[in-house]
This record gives sequence, C-alpha cells and structure tokens, in this order.
Amino acid sequence: MSIVVNLTYNIMAILRFKALVEVTRREPIKTEAPSKNVSDYFGLNVFDLHKMEHYLSKEAFNVVRKAIDEGKSLTRQEANQVAIGLKAWALERGATHFTHWFHPLTDGTAEKHDGFIEMGDKGHVVESFSGEVLVQSEPDASSFPSGGIRNTFEARGYTAWDVSSPVFIVGTTLCIPTIFVSYTGEALDYKAPLLKALSKLDKAAVDVCQYFDKDVTKVIATLGCEQEYFLVDEALYYARPDLVLAERTLMGHQSAKDQQLSDHYFGSIPERVMCFIEDFECEAYKLGIPVKTRHNEVAPNQFECAPIHEEVNLAVDHNQLLMDVMKRIARRHNFRVLFHEKPFAGINGSGKHNNWSMATNTGVNLLSPGKNPKSNLQFLTFLVNVIKAVHDSNELIRASVMNESNSYRLGGHEAPPAIISVFLGTYLSKMLDDVVRKVTEAKMTPAQKTELKLGIGKIPEILLDNTDRNRTSPFAFTGNRFEFRAVGSSANCGGSMIVLNAAVAHQLEKFKKEVDKIIARGRNKDEAIFQVIKKYILESKNVLFEGDNYSKEWHAEAEKRKLCNIAGVPESLKCYLTPESKEVLIASGIFSEKELEGRMEVEFEKFTKKVQIEARVLGDLAINHIVPTGINYMTSLLENVKAIKEVFGEKDFERLAGARKELIITISDHISMIKKLVNDMIEARKKANVIENSFDKAIVYEKDVKPYLDEIRNHIDKLELIADNEIWPLPKYRELLFTR
Ligand code: ADP
Ligand code: MG
Repeated sequence: MSIVVNLTYNIMAILRFKALVEVTRREPIKTEAPSKNVSDYFGLNVFDLHKMEHYLSKEAFNVVRKAIDEGKSLTRQEANQVAIGLKAWALERGATHFTHWFHPLTDGTAEKHDGFIEMGDKGHVVESFSGEVLVQSEPDASSFPSGGIRNTFEARGYTAWDVSSPVFIVGTTLCIPTIFVSYTGEALDYKAPLLKALSKLDKAAVDVCQYFDKDVTKVIATLGCEQEYFLVDEALYYARPDLVLAERTLMGHQSAKDQQLSDHYFGSIPERVMCFIEDFECEAYKLGIPVKTRHNEVAPNQFECAPIHEEVNLAVDHNQLLMDVMKRIARRHNFRVLFHEKPFAGINGSGKHNNWSMATNTGVNLLSPGKNPKSNLQFLTFLVNVIKAVHDSNELIRASVMNESNSYRLGGHEAPPAIISVFLGTYLSKMLDDVVRKVTEAKMTPAQKTELKLGIGKIPEILLDNTDRNRTSPFAFTGNRFEFRAVGSSANCGGSMIVLNAAVAHQLEKFKKEVDKIIARGRNKDEAIFQVIKKYILESKNVLFEGDNYSKEWHAEAEKRKLCNIAGVPESLKCYLTPESKEVLIASGIFSEKELEGRMEVEFEKFTKKVQIEARVLGDLAINHIVPTGINYMTSLLENVKAIKEVFGEKDFERLAGARKELIITISDHISMIKKLVNDMIEARKKANVIENSFDKAIVYEKDVKPYLDEIRNHIDKLELIADNEIWPLPKYRELLFTR
C-alpha cells in the first residue's frame, strides 16, 4: 500500500494533520484595551442613562426615565424626541445602520439592519432616524418559528422597543432591544413573556413585602449567569464536520487522559486563551456587560465566565449578547467557542448556572438573611415560598431546561440530574425543622412567639460563607440567592426565567391570600405568616434534598417521593401543558393558550430537527469518511497478508499473519455494522418523517432514531482505536482537547 493511495483517499486526514501543524504554530494575539481602567470605558457603546441625560432634552430624558421605571412605552411624539438625541449619539459613535434586536424562539438573537440613509429633497442622501422606527418595526418574519401561530400568508410580525433594556452599538449598527410579536398580538419570542412574568413577580412580591416594610414599592428579580464553554482551535474545528454542523462531536474515542487528574480546573489560564478572554471582556465592558469572574473549568479546554448579577431582563439580554461577542471575538484568535451542552462524550458538559434572587427598591436582597428578627422573617417567607414554588411547579421548572442538547448533559455524572430538588444546607434545613416543631396550630403564647423570633433572629449574616456547598444540586441555596444549575449552556435563559419567576409570583400570590385569610380570622400578622410557612414547609418537604444528587440511591428515593423524572425530552416538555402549569402560565396572563401551545410546537419541532441533523451528519461521516478509511486500512492489511504468504509460504503463515487476519475480521465487522446501522437509521427516519403531529414525531425521533447515534458511534470509536492513525480522517479527542 503506497503512501500515494493513502493521500488520495484521505484528504480529510491531510486536513487533520495540516490543522495540527497550524495549531502548534499559533501565537497569542494581544489586543489593547482603550484604557487600563475598565471604569474609563465601561458602557462606551451603550446609550445608558448618563448618555441620555447628555444627548436628550430634559423633557425627553424624564419621559424615558419614567417609562423605564414604570415599564411603560412611549408615544410617537415622545419617541421622536428620543430619536433625535439617540441619532446624534449613534452617528458620533460611527453607526451607519440600526436594527431591532430580538430573541426569536431559535437559540440565538435576530437582527435586520437598515441604513440611516434616506433620499433628501434634491437627490442628496441624508441620515435620518425617527421615533417611529425606534419604537416599532414590521420585519417579514415568516421564517421564524411560531408553532403555527402565524400563517405564512399573514407573515407580518412586529417588534417593539423594550425601553427597560438600553440601546447599544455593535460595530456600526445601533441595536434596539425589542419584543417580537405576531400581527395578531401573540408573543413569538422570549422577551415579551419574560417581561410579563417579571412584572407579575414584582407585584406579588411587593404585596408580600408590605407585611414587613411599607416602603417597598418595587421588587426586581436579579440574575447572574455563570457561562461555561469550550474552546477549539479553528483549524481543528473545520476538520470536524460534526462540530461545524451539529455543534458537538458525534464520534471520537475518549482520550487516554482527559479530566481524571482535575488538573485543568482553576489551573492557570493558557496564554492564547487569556488573550481571547481579555479581548472579549473588553468588548463586553464597552457594551456595559459587567463580566467579573473567569476560570478554567473541569474538562480540558473548558472555561467559565460570570458577570455581576443584574435585573433579570437585562441579564438575559446581556447573556445573549455576551455569547454573540464571544463567538465573534473567538474568530480573531483562531478559536471557536462551543456553547453546546455536551460537545464531547465522556467528559464534563457545559451549563449556565442561573444565580437568581429578588431585590427591593429599599436595597434589600429578599433571599439574604437580615440583621434582625423582622427582616429574617421576611427572608424566611421568601425562602419558603421559593421552595414551595419549586415543589408545586416541579415538572414545569424541569421542563423549562429540557431540550435536545441539554439532554446529553443532565443526569450525567457531572451535571445536576434531571430531578429538580432544592438544597438548603444544614443550618437552614435545621431552622425549617425548628419552625415546624415550634409553630403550633393553636394560638401561640407570647413566649412561644418570642422564642421563635429569637431563633430566626439568630440566622447568621455569615451564612453566605457558612453554606456547605452542594455541587450536585440542580437548585441550591448559596447564601443569598438560589443557583439554578440545570440550565443548559447554549440556552436563552429567558426560557427558564419566565417559568421560575412566574412560578414564584404565582406562589407569592397564593401565600398572600392564605395569610390574609388567617389575619381576617383574628390572628396577628406574624402568627399568620408562621402558620402558612409551617404548612408550606411540610407540604414541600419532598423537594428538599441535601445528599448526593448523582447517587443511585437518590434516584430511587426521588421515585418514592414522586418527583418528576421523565426520561424523554418531548414528554418532559409536555409538562408545560398540564393543568397546574397552565394555572401558573396562562391564568396569570403570561401566555395565552394559543401562545403556549404554539411554543410547544416549536420545541417539539426543534427537538426533531436537531436529532435529524445529527443523524444526517453522522450518517454522512460514517459512510463518506469512516467506512472508506476502514476499507482502506483493511485493504492494506490484506495486501500485507498476501505478501506474507508469497514470501513465507504456508509454513509460518499462521504465526506471522494470524493476528493481522483477526484484525481484518474485526475491522470488517465494524464496517458492516456501521453500514447496516446507518441504513436502518435512514429507514427509521423515513418512517418518522411522515408523522404529521409534531409531538408524536418528536417521540418517534427520540425512541427510534436517537439510539442509533450511540450505536453507530460505538463502532466508529472502536474502529478509531485500531485503525492506522495516519489515515484517520477526523481530529481525535486528544487533539481537540489538548491543543491550544
Ligand atoms: P460560584 O462560586 O457559584 O461559581 P461565581 O462567582 O462563579 O460563583 O458566580 C456567582 C454569580 O452569582 C455571579 O454572577 C454573581 O453576580 C451572582 N450573584 C451574586 N449575588 C446574586 C444575587 N443576589 N442575585 C443574583 N445573582 C447573584
Ligand atoms: Mg462559578
């Protein structure tokens, strides 16, 4: 077998080696920040309140401020006034175009740019920007997923300015954050329902805060999302069609060494990576995104960044924007960022830990223990209500993080399981037990009440440092917030934030009603609150779990506790449509029935399409790359065996060629199996594709198509282990994970 044959048959192998050579020659690419101090340029490309004050008339400034505070929209006339100042700022910053920037039900954001130019009177071109185009636009949105809400013949959707999220400039484009709704008013994005859920939470939480502090008039939910990601060198990335098309490796034998030694976690950040991080952080600062933390994650070539928490709507926008910035900046450094939840089998996947809490206009974090019994009763109230919400809306909260890509990560031995439980830590668990024991049904004596309050009053402020960390919990209390860890790294956190905030809002409303009822029966306020809290603790006990969430015992225990653990993605998603979920999402007015059903259609279709894409990519790679490589290697072995016979004759043949013959058989078996399984998978797809109903189709894709992905991969990975490294067509795990 001559090398020439190898080369002609293995153009991909050449690409692989070329990529490896390229990577070894890479140098770190340093870029200069506009200033050493971030505070000098933070928000440079954002039309924030400071700039508004400078560029807007006093009148316009006050109008916008009021609109932001009260969550209202602007009239055309008011918008026109704002547009004048905004245009002046944007032109000064070099913008030539503007766009309404929105979050359709895909995984990314959408934008359609329009130039500022208009034809002037005498055929001149002038820069123009009006209030009309600032507040509303009507993109032809027929190609965005809507779940059948918008017929293609009525393709118009419109976008409307979300005043609460500031306008920003990327490159030369002025970006206006907007909601996206259909012509008939149904939401087609994440932002519109998120804003509704947040406003529900605001109202419900303020009502409850009124028991404790009359000065509270506004409650915002806060979010800080830790974003995990992988980096892969661009040259290697291009040599892996599965990464390019499916964003995860569909084949690849585990590297002999990967994360066993935990030597990557918190290790020193490689220089080339550091240059990339500094560069994207700088861009993020200019966009007003307060990224603060960076570190190596557990898996090789896996990293994390986390911003300072912000109001949820803004934090969601910023996270989407940050992912976009990272993808763009990575290319400058010859990297590709992988946000997929499980780009590599056998090692850790990536999540997006959603740190979430609520804060009042009086500067109080409602999930932070206070300094005195009164504020601690408030803390306890909100803590227990969140637990109760996670208990009652368990299936729904779980559904909000379920999707095709996250399904490869959840339940693995590195990520939260797909069972949603709450971790509190020993101190708080004990305190809740105390409350249950000490609060009595009968009217409490003053002494009992004092004792209880004293107990609560002692919750230490240093709880933050005290909380024993349980890294295995999907929903953990971490001292002054909950950390919702089951959210996938590629997700728009709008999806899970809609559900969490809606569930807590719904719960707080119920709480208020129950407490008021007891007060109406003549009990005092604190006692009424204690009564309801006790009842909630007892009712939501099942959702509390302090142990190892990865353990087998927990799965058995969770089953006994009847906690939701549906294995399938489409079936999990269906929990959005249970009567309980509808009460949280529809009765509250966050979604209409039609919107929610449309959204589910979109999710089912997304699931099917993603599996379909993976199946096609794997099929193509298996047949066009792997099988020929296997045959190639087999042929060279066969020639070798023939030559042995020619040279040595029958006498020593078995001794000399026996092992080779076995290898030939093993390779041949794998090739036959790969071919057969790919054919079977195609047949399974054909059958699934004719199913009309999107849910049924997703189910069949999950049950009858998805399992082939693993089966086929298994044979390919075994083949990789025995085939000649020189002709293997795709970069191997060790190359993808250890070269940078
Ligand atoms: P960890 O130790 O959990 O990895 P990190 O420092 O990586 O923590 O991230 C913690 C995140 O929690 C940050 O984004 C931080 O801003 C956020 N956070 C802190 N307090 C709150 C809060 N009150 N509400 C929401 N998020 C918060
Ligand atoms: Mg972290």
